[in-house]
Amino acid sequence: MRVTTKLQVWQRKFTDMKIKKNDTVKIIAGKDKGRQGKIEKVYKKSGKVLIPGINIYKKHIKKSEQTPQGGVVELPRPINVAKVMLVCPICKKTTRIGYVIERNKKYRVCKKCKSKI
Ligand SMILES: [Zn+2]
Repeated sequence: MRVTTKLQVWQRKFTDMKIKKNDTVKIIAGKDKGRQGKIEKVYKKSGKVLIPGINIYKKHIKKSEQTPQGGVVELPRPINVAKVMLVCPICKKTTRIGYVIERNKKYRVCKKCKSKI
C-alpha cells in the first residue's frame, strides 16, 4: 500500500462532516433538546459544533478594567454533532443527509424531500 492512500483515508475520516457552518439544526439530546439553532463553527477533529444560545454555561469574570463590576457571562459550548440533526431548508423537517454526485460534483441532499441542500 502506498503512503498517499493511507493519508487520504486519514483525511477523509476527519473531514467527513455532513453538517456545515450556517446549517440550521435541531438539538435531539441533552438539556437543549428540541431547540433549534444555526451552526456557527464546526470542529472537525473533535466532531463538535458550536451553536449560539445552545449548551450555555455561565462563566464568572473577575474584576478587570473592561469589567469593573466583574460578573457572569453566558457562553455557548460546542456540542457533539451526534446530538444535532439537520433541519432541511426546503421542507423544514429534521432529516438525514444523503449525497448525490453529478458531473463530478458532490451535493448534499435531504433524504426526505430529495432537494439539494
Ligand atoms: Zn427536505
